[in-house]
Amino acid sequence: MTAKIMDGKAVAEKIRAKVKAEVANLKTKPGLAAILVGENPASKVYVDIKRKTCDEVGIYSELYKLPEETTEKELLQLIGRLNKSEKIHGILVQLPLPRRINEEKVLEAIALEKDVDGFSLVNVGRLASGREAAVPCTPKGVIRLLEEYGIDLAWKNAVVIGRSNIVGKPTALLLLNRNATVTICHSKTADLPHYTKKADILVAAAGKPKLVKADMVKEGAVVIDVGINRVEGKLVGDVDFASVKEKASYITPVPGGVGPMTVAMLIENTLERYKEITRRK
Ligand code: NAD
Repeated sequence: MTAKIMDGKAVAEKIRAKVKAEVANLKTKPGLAAILVGENPASKVYVDIKRKTCDEVGIYSELYKLPEETTEKELLQLIGRLNKSEKIHGILVQLPLPRRINEEKVLEAIALEKDVDGFSLVNVGRLASGREAAVPCTPKGVIRLLEEYGIDLAWKNAVVIGRSNIVGKPTALLLLNRNATVTICHSKTADLPHYTKKADILVAAAGKPKLVKADMVKEGAVVIDVGINRVEGKLVGDVDFASVKEKASYITPVPGGVGPMTVAMLIENTLERYKEITRRK
């Protein structure tokens, strides 16, 4: 079997066009503020892409590139100002933050209605209790891709490799909320292939280049590769694409799979935050 490629780039383009059309009809513009602290090269690339996408769809954006030595207090003060800004409906703090800054404190400082990434404890709790509100962008993008390709989740065994708060755990919860039977594997899982071989839906989010080989995948599985790894100047996923595509029924490429979906979900979430805030006024 040769897998059908799930074209995240094309699906994301469709979503961007929909958001753009909706934004064009609004009286005021949705606004997104992105905050980057320090010099992480990958993070810089991500926030620039996010800003460019906002421009493209007509979303107002403010980008704060703060120096590495920014204090927690300064960061909290900026968030406080953005919480009050009439122009801003979503606030994004690009992770990871420098270690000396308390990530939880910073994420909790974002006004709940502007929590565009869904990382606040309240939104995490909502997701965990099956009452999804603002949902993290990458996991939401994974689910949207599955939906776009008409892949049903009920009765399926889904295996997620990775348990981070940003990707692994929320992805597992979204799959569970859609009636998949979910297993989460992580760096201390004994015998990873034992679990992955049973997966009808396999989501790889470990950040380990080509961790998933063909012999770890069930024939006909749907394989979603969230990993973005730089190897000798090239981007590779967590899945050995060349061999796994001969065994899977569907597979996402890297780049061009989950990555563009993440950005599309961010602008969709910004529009949702805008609607929620303007509705309440
Ligand atoms: P993370 O480092 O916070 O978490 C990685 C997880 O993988 C951990 O829970 C760890 O236990 C698990 N893990 C590591 N090695 C493992 C192994 N050998 N076997 C099983 N589990 C293992 O990373 P993250 O933020 O969750 O991101 C994961 C990957 O997804 C990274 O490559 C990251 O760059 C990528 N990512 C992509 C997007 C996107 O838009 N496509 C967005 C966010 C993250």
